[in-house]
Amino acid sequence: MSTDPLQLARPDLRGFAGYRSARSEALRGEVWLNANEAAWANSADRDGLARRYPQPQPRDLRVALAGLYDVEPEQLLIGRGSDEGIDLLVRAFCVPGSDAVLVTPPVFGMYAVSARLQGAGVVDVPLQDATDDFRVDLQQVAARAEGEGAKLVFLCSPGNPAGGVIPRDAVLRLAQQLQGRALVVVDEAYIEFADAPSLATDVGLQRNLIVLRTLSKAHALAAARIGCVIADAHVIALLQRCQAPYPVPAPCAALALGALQPASLAQTRDHVETIRQERGRLGTALAALPAVHRVYPSQGNFLLVRCFDAEAAFRALLAAGVVVRDQRAAPQLGDALRISIGTPEENDRMIAALRVAGAPLRHDFVSGEAMSRPSGTPAGEAA
Ligand SMILES: *Cc1c(COP(=O)(O)O)cnc(C)c1O
Repeated sequence: MSTDPLQLARPDLRGFAGYRSARSEALRGEVWLNANEAAWANSADRDGLARRYPQPQPRDLRVALAGLYDVEPEQLLIGRGSDEGIDLLVRAFCVPGSDAVLVTPPVFGMYAVSARLQGAGVVDVPLQDATDDFRVDLQQVAARAEGEGAKLVFLCSPGNPAGGVIPRDAVLRLAQQLQGRALVVVDEAYIEFADAPSLATDVGLQRNLIVLRTLSKAHALAAARIGCVIADAHVIALLQRCQAPYPVPAPCAALALGALQPASLAQTRDHVETIRQERGRLGTALAALPAVHRVYPSQGNFLLVRCFDAEAAFRALLAAGVVVRDQRAAPQLGDALRISIGTPEENDRMIAALRVAGAPLRHDFVSGEAMSRPSGTPAGEAA
């Protein structure tokens, strides 16, 4: 039996009702004069989607997402990307000035950014660069979370940018161990590209386990800003009380609902399969280039690549019009680039550009204006 995860919420928020919007009342009627909305649609609003405030959690989309992830609608909160889910979790569970979150750098920057904005501490448990892959030391995670009072443990699986998946058994064991002390949040932004299944269906059994999913990556809807927190229904209700009144714009909800129809889902699956094949092809091709000395195995739609001269490689790519993510400011990644998998044609172009970057220490081809590279990887920058 697992204990009530709401015991971990900020004590001052336990009785908090949040904002009661006009849409959250269960009223019936034909003439709606209760929300000070406009009497006529805007002429630019051709589909008439935008005149009225949307449902705080659009019911049809919530049901469709719950179906996609195989959970109950009440176990799922739709937000403005999983970024909002991260922020809501930190705000609802971390008391400023005393609580902390635990992260495993090098990792997605938003966990630490949200913690910082909340005035919560950040406990770093660095990934270990093993011979074959980056690894999360879950024993150390458990010990440090307990020892330093972390309320939220953020695990990224597949990891961005490291690319590895944390085994399900190990995550469940950690959650069990931290029960009553911390929530274990598994960010599965890239799980569609992985061989491993999602842990979403485990949230019903292990109540301090939380899973983040998004339509931004595999479903190609980054600009629609639709992401989900999947958790115990009581945790979801608490997060919703902390959320902005109408967080899901109606045009975005309509787009997302379209993406969850069978034809779109089938196409998404095809694209994911192509990305997985390209990932294998590129891993081999990159590893064979003279500019590259290590390619990490990846379960995401990107590859983490160590270069002999990352500066030269980054500039050679840029000179060819290919923009990749410079990871050199991230801990342990002083020589690394993260390369998203594109279309096969885009990938060919990337490989061709990196091939001419050649062996170490060739700066001579760099043109004057390419000299100032974008400044590393600020911790807060998305994706
Ligand atoms: C891209 C990314 C996100 C952000 O997803 P949104 O749903 O677009 O906010 C979350 N986590 C990780 C690890 C990511 O790489």
